[in-house]
Formats: sequence, C-alpha cells, structure tokens
Amino acid sequence: MTDSDGNGLLPGSVIGILGGGQLGRMTALAAAQLGYRCHIFDPQHGGPAAQVAAGETNAGYDDIAALNAFADAVDVVTFEFENVPVDTARHLARRVPVRPGPKSLEVAQDRIVEKAFLNEIGVPTAPYAGVETVQELTAALSQIGRPAVLKTVRLGYDGKGQVMIGPEGDPAAAFTAMGASRGILEGWIDFEMEISVIVARGLDGAMISYDPSENRHDSHILKTSRVPARITPAIAEEACGIAERIVTALELVGLLAVELFVTRDGKLLANEIAPRPHNSGHWTMDACATGQFEQFVRAICGLPLGAVTRHADVTMTNLIGDEVNDSYSVLAEPNARLHLYGKNEPRPGRKMGHVNRLYQPGGLPR
Ligand code: AMP
Repeated sequence: MTDSDGNGLLPGSVIGILGGGQLGRMTALAAAQLGYRCHIFDPQHGGPAAQVAAGETNAGYDDIAALNAFADAVDVVTFEFENVPVDTARHLARRVPVRPGPKSLEVAQDRIVEKAFLNEIGVPTAPYAGVETVQELTAALSQIGRPAVLKTVRLGYDGKGQVMIGPEGDPAAAFTAMGASRGILEGWIDFEMEISVIVARGLDGAMISYDPSENRHDSHILKTSRVPARITPAIAEEACGIAERIVTALELVGLLAVELFVTRDGKLLANEIAPRPHNSGHWTMDACATGQFEQFVRAICGLPLGAVTRHADVTMTNLIGDEVNDSYSVLAEPNARLHLYGKNEPRPGRKMGHVNRLYQPGGLPR
C-alpha cells in the first residue's frame, strides 16, 4: 500500500524483517508506533522480534515456498543481520522491494570485498591481504608486519574467528585457530579510540548522520558507547562524510553503521560496515529527536527522514550475560532508560539488553 506518489508506504502496511533478534524487535516496536505491522522471518520460533510482531514465519532462508508466501504477505522487506544469504534477498527482490538492496549484503558479508570496496571509494582501512594457505599467510605477515590479526572472511562477529599474531606468533597455528579456509590478515592498528557513525539514506537519496559515538569493547563485544565522542569537530565531520560516501556508493535505502578507528595521529580508518541498525546506535533511542529504529522504518517505508538533533549527552551500556540479573536496579536511576530484549537464557557473551543514561550537556562521567 503506497501513497499517491507511489513511494511512501501507508500506515497498516506490513514490513517483512529477515532475522528475529533484538534489532528486529526494536525495529518492530518503532514500526508499530508509526502504524505499521511487522512480519518476522526467522528459522527459530518466538525470538525477541517475533514476541512483539504481528506475524511470524519459521522456515529456512532457502525455503522458496516459505519465502514466496512471505513476499506475498508483506509490502517491503528488510533484514536485521547481514548474514542473510544474498540469494534469499535476490529472490525476494524479484517479488517485493528489498531495502537496503542485496548489493549492501554482498559487500558487508565478505571482509575482503568490504575493504576493497571501501578503498575503491577512497575510504582508508587497515592494510590487509586475503590468505587461503599458511604460505600465503606467511608472505602476508612479512608484507604487513606484526602484530596483525587474522580473521575469517565471512561469518565473523563479536571477535569470533579472530586470531592475534604477535611477534612470536606461529602462522600455521594461527591459521588452524582461525577455523576457516579463507582468511584476511589485517595490520593491527594501535588506535586512540573506536568510533562509529549511523547514517540514514531515504528513498529520495536524502541523507542524515547521527553524531559519532565513542565505543569501548570488552573481549571484542561492544560494552559502552558515549556521545559526544572525545574527538575534534573536524574528525566528527570527516567520519560523517565517510558514512555518507559509503551509502551513496551503495545506493543504500535504510541505515548503515560504519565503525572507524581514530589513529594516534588523528586519521580515520574504516573497520567494518553494517547495512542495518547497529548496537552502537542504541543511544539514539533516548537521546535524539528520532531514534535509529524509527529512522530505519522511515527510510525503508519511503517516509521523510527525521531530525537527529541530540537533546542530551548519553552513555549506552550493554547488559551482557548475567549482567541482566540486576538490571532492575537501573529502574531506580532517574536518568536511566532500560531496554530488555526478551531473551530467556543469559548465556555468557549474549546481549540481553542495554541501558541508556542521559546527562546534561558536558555532564558525562569520565
Ligand atoms: P571486528 O569483528 O572486525 O569488528 O573486530 C572487533 C574488534 O576487534 C574491533 O572493534 C576492534 O576493537 C578490534 N579490532 C579488529 N580489527 C582490528 C585491527 N585491525 N586493529 C586493531 N583492533 C582491531
């Protein structure tokens, strides 16, 4: 159901979401607020997104009959994680608009394609080389130098499939520890800080970026984001410019996060992109005129983008594993907003929820 321009989806339309985790859940909640319904396609039943959605399909991403029925039941399709098979997105795109399109998945799923794409459009990254044998790894190490990090090309997240190679590290042992046949060796960046930018791009090509967030990881998993980041206005502007260059080149409709290293000499190197809402953008839910999930819904439904004005300084803290057990103490904090994802089992490393804490401008703790 579209408006008279044939662009914006009317309220009551159905957004199909591939993937059923917390990003789908928060998208579905934002979509409901704007009068849309969400239908979740997830191989597993009753996940965080399906709990708050109007419909659910449980089938494999290669189940053509289920995908066809899903396409018939929705007005637009998006995804909440980037490892949805590209063929699934392509198949659906023949029947219903898929936003962002399959190209953004292709680029984000493969770390070598991703880095080559970034370099091609003039966005610097860490030095890297693709390696498929121990011999190639040894050669790449002598070219790139140590320390370096060996990562799987595909399906790595939150540090999974990553091996540090220090001055004494043995290439053969590192290759085995990676646990995949294709790897990417990256020079280890002794960065000052990690930041990320969330950018939205609408159906009409309009773009808007949120303030960069300063991110701290713990065991490769995002622990906290703080905004404003402790960077100069020039670096902030450059970071947003990089994000906008990426979505323009991808012709992306939706949201994209770019994670960047700020080097000790004030340069920016892109680490990773994600063509979807991102954990490091959760702070926007409580600190901005339009949160990232509403912005995402606006973009994929062809609505005008919302203002990203920030009305508070903010920290976002992930609740990981058992940390969720005392999350209710957060409810007593007047400046805190608690978001829980409806997951039953607090396994180690599992993101169970997050807390946004709002501060007066200039009032962030060190
Ligand atoms: P990734 O899975 O690529 O997002 O990596 C997870 C985290 O590992 C990053 O957020 C960084 O903290 C760290 N990391 C990854 N690659 C590098 C690198 N080339 N140099 C330094 N730190 C890195």
